[in-house]
Amino acid sequence: MEHKKILIIGGGVAGLSAALALEQLGIKASIVEKTGFLGGHAIQYACKATDQCVKCGACVVEEKLKAVTENPDIRIFLNSQIKNKAQNNGRSVITLNRQPDYIDPHKCTDCGQCYAQCPGKGAIEQGFSPNNHPLYALNADKCLRFTGQDCHICEDVCPEKAIDLNQQPYKHICEINAVIVASGFKAFEPVDKPYGWQVFDNVITNLELERMLRRQSIAVRPSDGLPARRIAFIQCVGSRDATLNHLWCSKVCCGSALRMARVIKTRHPESEITFFYMDAQNSGKDFEKFYAAVQNDIHEIRCLPGDVYQTSDGSLQVSHFDQHDRQSVEHIFDLVVLSVGITPGSDSGKLADRLQLKPELTGFFSASPTQLGIFTAGAAAGPMTIEDAIASAGQAVWQTVQYLKTC
Ligand code: SF4
Ligand code: SF4
Repeated sequence: MEHKKILIIGGGVAGLSAALALEQLGIKASIVEKTGFLGGHAIQYACKATDQCVKCGACVVEEKLKAVTENPDIRIFLNSQIKNKAQNNGRSVITLNRQPDYIDPHKCTDCGQCYAQCPGKGAIEQGFSPNNHPLYALNADKCLRFTGQDCHICEDVCPEKAIDLNQQPYKHICEINAVIVASGFKAFEPVDKPYGWQVFDNVITNLELERMLRRQSIAVRPSDGLPARRIAFIQCVGSRDATLNHLWCSKVCCGSALRMARVIKTRHPESEITFFYMDAQNSGKDFEKFYAAVQNDIHEIRCLPGDVYQTSDGSLQVSHFDQHDRQSVEHIFDLVVLSVGITPGSDSGKLADRLQLKPELTGFFSASPTQLGIFTAGAAAGPMTIEDAIASAGQAVWQTVQYLKTC
């Protein structure tokens, strides 16, 4: 087994878990990650412990990321994507398209000067974990230099001369015995929904609230940075929606919203939290006990609002139809959080073509192998909790080992 090599596509929690499990078995694993950072969506999540752990799994992702980055036997290809796959004597030959590491990890000290002074919006991205090094990565699609302008600011301000933008993309070829597809998911972008995301500053997604709580521990109004005291969560935005052909439940957003509501209420008991929902999806271990407790802290309205409007002071007016009184009711909030659905990864169609895989009708990959030597882990196969993504990575590793014994 020690001569076998496995390529893991995706550096989120499932990919990290699979790499660590393979490494423990003495099997060499490489992770290919299309972005500049490991950890996927889950590394952006906040710890939601109150007086006790609520088993959200955020800390587990951090531990796995640290373990992978400290393990010299796990090879990591950031900013890389699969170009194609061929066969050679029973092994797969995978060609990767690689963007250069424009920021040299051996020189960068994570001082943040490049990030602070870059004039291109989003051109230098900041990672979410101290275990991401460098903590900054260049996004060539947004960099002024790569869009034809004469900008050298980041190279000039870097005190370590760690940035070199003259490097060119290149191809890397690897011969491997099996592939684990752990390419994750895309969070639904509610641009076409009526709730005013990207129209009103104080309408954000659950992922944006996760990042906010991770970075600054409190919920604020993005419009003015003041603490948000009246907060609405609107569930199932982009899930269970026939008009989008997204009929599936995203499984994790009820648990995540309720855990965030609880942590906000614990830190700021004066907060008033309203939860608009269809039905609360059971999510993770001990969820029922947790749900019973959180119901004392929030106001539940079993109905999805029709629309959100902004008032003259930047607050948000949310209207919904009250089934009991048969009339429309309005509420005012400081912050509206849209619990957006989990959809197939943005490049899963392309990836399926390149690996000659057949995705399911939903666009997610099948959890059962559809091609010899290719296995699926985590949310690439559909919505799941962090805990379930780790378990599914264990299953993919087990399937991989069984396969390796036959070849
Ligand atoms: Fe930002 Fe300019 Fe550097 Fe591009 S070249 S990353 S726009 S500072
Ligand atoms: Fe790293 Fe240089 Fe950017 Fe500082 S300015 S974070 S050393 S690349």
